[in-house]
Amino acid sequence: MALSPKDFTVAIVGGGMCGLACAIVLNRSGIDVNVFEAATKFGEVGAGVGFGPNSLRALKGLGLYDTVLKAANEPPNMRLFRFIAGTGDHELIYDYVNLAKSEEDHTGFGIYRPAFLDALTPLMDPARTRFNKRCVSVEKADSGRQLLRFADGSTFEADLVIGADGIRSVARKVIVGDESSCLGFSNTVAYRGLVPIDVLKAKGMKVPVHTRPHCWIGLGKHLITFPMRNDTLLNIVAFISSPDGLKLSPEHPQPWVRTAPQQELLDGFQGFGNDAMTVLKHIKTPSLWSIHTLHPPLKSFVAGRVVLVGDAAHGMLPHLGAGVGQGFEDVYTLYRVLTHPATKKTNLETALAIYDDMRPSRANMVLEGSIKAGNVYDGFGESKYSAEDVVTHLTGQWDPVWFYDIVAEVSDTLKQRENELFSLATS
Ligand SMILES: Cc1cc2nc3c(=O)[nH]c(=O)nc-3n(C[C@H](O)[C@H](O)[C@H](O)COP(=O)(O)OP(=O)(O)OC[C@H]3O[C@@H](n4cnc5c(N)ncnc54)[C@H](O)[C@@H]3O)c2cc1C
Repeated sequence: MALSPKDFTVAIVGGGMCGLACAIVLNRSGIDVNVFEAATKFGEVGAGVGFGPNSLRALKGLGLYDTVLKAANEPPNMRLFRFIAGTGDHELIYDYVNLAKSEEDHTGFGIYRPAFLDALTPLMDPARTRFNKRCVSVEKADSGRQLLRFADGSTFEADLVIGADGIRSVARKVIVGDESSCLGFSNTVAYRGLVPIDVLKAKGMKVPVHTRPHCWIGLGKHLITFPMRNDTLLNIVAFISSPDGLKLSPEHPQPWVRTAPQQELLDGFQGFGNDAMTVLKHIKTPSLWSIHTLHPPLKSFVAGRVVLVGDAAHGMLPHLGAGVGQGFEDVYTLYRVLTHPATKKTNLETALAIYDDMRPSRANMVLEGSIKAGNVYDGFGESKYSAEDVVTHLTGQWDPVWFYDIVAEVSDTLKQRENELFSLATS
């Protein structure tokens, strides 16, 4: 695509996986972009993250796929989840079947989160990266531009603000006003840890945790495990939810993340079988996360010249492992509309309207799916879901997430709607 320098400037609030990816591709395309990150450097929790076919298509479209794949340090493969009983001998309930019609829809991989950011950081111009910049508000300046205010008292003006500041987004306030109306605690907590796989193998575990991702389902709790780093490290997330299924309550007090005593985790999973407990006993210092979600989902991700991407727009439950993928789809869509040859300062609102017509319905469908998935994983046993029910609910659950070609969708939409951009650009 031939790119031309633009007559508008962009400020990105937040340099997580989505904000950094967005900053790199806009900077590469010649757009004047600055990214403002609250932390002292780009950083992520030391845990894994999985990318499905739709995430990889977006990364390819952004020109970041090769860099990320190299950092993952393993060949792309798609190892599907085995759903097993958390209790007893961990009976196999459902071996997920991917009905992919193309090879591309059968590709995915996992990566250590810090490795993702380490690989991408050198691609961003350091002169356009500001750390220790916690944004406290986004307002309209007298100049008509967007005014960012930071906790250190400094300010910055840009024509367009991209809010990539995660689930507790400050930028989102421009769109929803009082954010307590849409941000809720899911009554679910997650304990996270990483354990060397060799150590577990030595314990004679029967569940093949080193070769496949597993979801160990139960009543009011479930475990997710998947191997990373060429099958040397097991990523573990252990969820405990309210017995009534998803019930949103007001935002949990800070901190949302803390270190928890191991005994608390072991007590929570009492009743789970031997292999599950072996895995959990090896997480010596679990981190404990309060899981929040945006609900009801935002109808729009845009207000004036402020636009949201990633968790700021659609922070969802982690049960489909699809949050970043939706963020990458946002970033790809925004990148294409902003770098379209006809997009200029005068028609930014039109470009953003195209973005806003594409993204909320798709991302929110995945968000709703993440809630349904959690209810099934935490609903196995007694009077809730039988093994047969679980199979029925889970069959094809990832089809709408994975079998989606963001590159083709955006290309088609831009072809249909570029006249709107051109007419305003020349008027
Ligand atoms: C347990 C768990 C497992 C998950 N597993 C997966 C998975 O396998 N696959 C998947 O696709 N997704 C997964 N997700 C979801 C995924 O982690 C998120 O969707 C993703 O991290 C969102 O990225 P982001 O860049 O939008 O936001 P964030 O990662 O939250 O980044 C926001 C950035 O903005 C900065 N910031 C915040 N506020 C401000 C401010 N006011 N001013 C300046 N900077 C600010 C923060 O410091 C941070 O760097 C999981 C989530 C959880 C909790």
